[in-house]
Order: sequence, then C-alpha cells, then structure tokens
Amino acid sequence: MAEKISAVKGMNDIAPPVSAHWEWLEEQLRSLMQRYGYRNLRTPIVEPTALFVRGLGQVTDIVEKEMYSFEDRLNGEQLTLRPENTAGVVRAAIEQSLTYDGGKRLYYMGPMFRHERPQRGRYRQFHQFGAEALGFAGPDVDAELIVLACDLWAALGLSGISLEINSLGQPPERQAHRAALIAYLEAHAELLDEDARRRLHTNPLRILDTKNPLMQDLVNQAPRLMDHLGQESLDHFHRLRTLLDAHGIEYTINPRLVRGMDYYNLSVFEFVTTQLGSQGTVCAGGRYDGLFEQIGGKSVPAVGWALGMERILELLKEQNKLPEQPVPDAYAVVQNASSLSQVMPVLRTLRLAGVNVQMHAGGPEGMGSMKSQFKKADASGARFALIFGQAELEKGAVAIKPLRGPRNDADVGAPAQQLLKPLAEAAHWASIFRLP
Ligand code: ATP
Ligand code: MG
Repeated sequence: MAEKISAVKGMNDIAPPVSAHWEWLEEQLRSLMQRYGYRNLRTPIVEPTALFVRGLGQVTDIVEKEMYSFEDRLNGEQLTLRPENTAGVVRAAIEQSLTYDGGKRLYYMGPMFRHERPQRGRYRQFHQFGAEALGFAGPDVDAELIVLACDLWAALGLSGISLEINSLGQPPERQAHRAALIAYLEAHAELLDEDARRRLHTNPLRILDTKNPLMQDLVNQAPRLMDHLGQESLDHFHRLRTLLDAHGIEYTINPRLVRGMDYYNLSVFEFVTTQLGSQGTVCAGGRYDGLFEQIGGKSVPAVGWALGMERILELLKEQNKLPEQPVPDAYAVVQNASSLSQVMPVLRTLRLAGVNVQMHAGGPEGMGSMKSQFKKADASGARFALIFGQAELEKGAVAIKPLRGPRNDADVGAPAQQLLKPLAEAAHWASIFRLP
C-alpha cells in the first residue's frame, strides 16, 4: 500500500455526524442575521500580505508569528491565507464602494488560518462567523451588535456566557495613556517578562493582555486608559452602557480588555465562558473607525465582532445543546432489483414534494435479503419503512411499516397518509397505487 497522507496538523476534517452540527449552527446564524438586516459578504481566502500587516498592525501576535504567507510563484506577489476577515471586509468595501449610499450591515463566515500551537479550542484552520456594521458612527450600532450576539446565545440554548466591555478611546487619548503606561512599566522593569520587555516600546497596551500569572499584580495596578478618556469618548461609552442596560444585558467593565488587533477604538467587548478551559473567549469585537483609512480608503466608521465556531460548538456540546442528527422520514425497502425502474420514480415524486426518503442501495447481486434491508431501515433512524415487495407491487400497493414511535393503527394512519400524500396527489401514481 502507498504511504498514508494525513491532514495538516491543526487542520481538521468535518465529517458526519459532526457536520450536521455545523450546518445547524450556520442556519441559526443566517436566520438571526436576516432578522437584524445583515447581509452576506464573501471575500477571498487569499489576500495580499500587506492587507494584514497594515490592517492588523506589525506588532500583533497574528502578524508577528501566526500568518501563513507565501510568494506567488508567477509574479512574486506576497500573499497570505486570511487569519481573520475584518481586514478583508474593509478591503472589499473600499474596492466595491459598498458604503457609497450609506451604511451597510454585513456578515461573513468561513475558514481562517493561524500558525498557533494546536490545542482544545485553538486550531490552525478554524472557522469564524463575523458581523460588521460599516458606516455607522453611533453607539446604537455597537449596542445592536452586542444584543444580536446575546440573542444568538439564547437561540442556541447557551448559558453561562458573560460579557466584558471597555473603551479604548481615540488615538490621542491612547497616546497619553501609552506614555503614562510606559513610564509605569519602566519603573517596574524588573517585573517584566521577556515578551513584555520586547513590547514595552512597540505595543505596551498589549502587555496588559498578558497571560503570565507573575505579572497580574503589575498590570492590575497599571495606569488606566479609562482615566485618560476625553468627554466624547466617555459619552460614547456611557450611551452604549445605557442601551445595554435598557435591554437588561449584564456586563462587567474590564479596563484591561484591549483586544489583539491594533485597529480598535472606543467600544471593545468580549463574550467569555469558564466552561472551555483556557480558550474561554467565544466572541470578540469592537469599533474600528480608523481601519478604512489605514488600508487606503476614505474614513468610514465601523464596528463588528467575530465568533469562533469551533468554540461555540464545543460549548454546545458541553451544555448538551447540540441538535439531534437528521433522520429520513422513510426508508425504502425494495424486494427485487427488477422493480427499481418502477420504484425510483415514485421515491423521486416524494422527494420533490419535500419528503425525506432514503432508498436502500443494492449491490451487484441485487437488493439483498428483506431481513438485511429492514436492519438498515431501522439503523437509518427513519420513522417508516416503505415496502416495495413483489406482492405489493403486483397488487399496485405500497406497504408502510412504522419503525419507531407509536405503532398502533390509530396513531400510525394519519402520519402514514401524510407521508404518502404526494403520491395521492400525483394523478399518475394515484392511478397505479392503492394508498393506505
Ligand atoms: P485568543 O486570545 O484566544 O488567541 P484572539 O484575540 O486571537 O483570541 P480574535 O482574533 O479576536 O481572537 O478572533 C475572534 C474569535 O475567534 C476568538 O474569540 C475565538 O473564539 C476564535 N479564535 C481565534 N483564534 C482561534 C484559533 N486559533 N482556533 C479556534 N478559534 C479561534
Ligand atoms: Mg490569538
């Protein structure tokens, strides 16, 4: 045998039965976005590397060490597998003039790629679903996006997800805070780890986000950005909080919430759970009014979030909220392969009418014994077996057998008739089959 080829480390196949969970989650997401008036945007998986370097910032985890980048072998162009989709959405919005006639509410979903150490809730190919509102400056849209996420948890049946919010203010306010922060950290240089020392002058705000337990006291005492915010920023934050309160949405203000990407300003937020070990952030986002200009467009205010679909599915599993596997309404048992040309068009009629009916597939020898077919029918989870036996077909009849659920005649009759109704309604079949 030839040598086996495995999937790339940290990149996973999504096969049945798990793929049904994904499809269900995707449906829930689409349906909710529709109710809030968000529309789908699909951008390429490969983008110019410069988009992320300029969009996310040179000294972010993603750009420093997580991107899958390569050179186009024909023209030498530097390309990257998208590590996130906000920069791509903004690039597309600029290129397609999506906001020329006003604000746009958009959503995306799909695979993202980051070169990280694979572990529970952290993969190299993972999937995000994101909502982005482009062209709206007010805190009402920040609130709408947060409320939307809360509605999503409820629709999925999830609990135990808490909301943390913060304000990052505007660039000049961050500059003032940054100076105070660097002075403070320099005064305590002996307590900084290697990562922090490296970031001290490039991205000190990110030091507040450290996961090093030895530095927690230090960052807890650090100067707060909130104390450097001007009236307008404080106002935006206050109005957001008022709207969240009006919805009865609980949150905590986390002054250390800074987010990994450089592009955020004003509102930032994260939804976190304690039920997923150390990968507890399921959804994160904020306002990014500067990003359009940063990647070469006219200034457009914007706000959005992204959720990790693997983490949401993991949480659904943890809380026992995953949906049942889809099962066929009926499983067709066919005694003789010679009757297939009569049977298969019947099944097709049922399917065209919306009935989910699975046909027993035969082999080179024919259909197999009725006993083995009934075994398969049972294992399929179908409520009914449709029996196309020789005797039935000669009489022009279909036998129908309940495989599960109530089995006494009174309870079986109506659902069985409902199932075969499309045949009764199709004149050509009604004349051939006597239906129950
Ligand atoms: P973390 O601090 O966990 O690395 P992040 O700040 O890098 O997260 P974002 O870039 O904000 O994450 O992405 C939004 C969401 O996407 C995260 O909250 C998480 O749910 C999910 N996510 C991010 N990276 C991964 C990954 N490598 N594997 C699976 N999900 C991920
Ligand atoms: Mg990360």
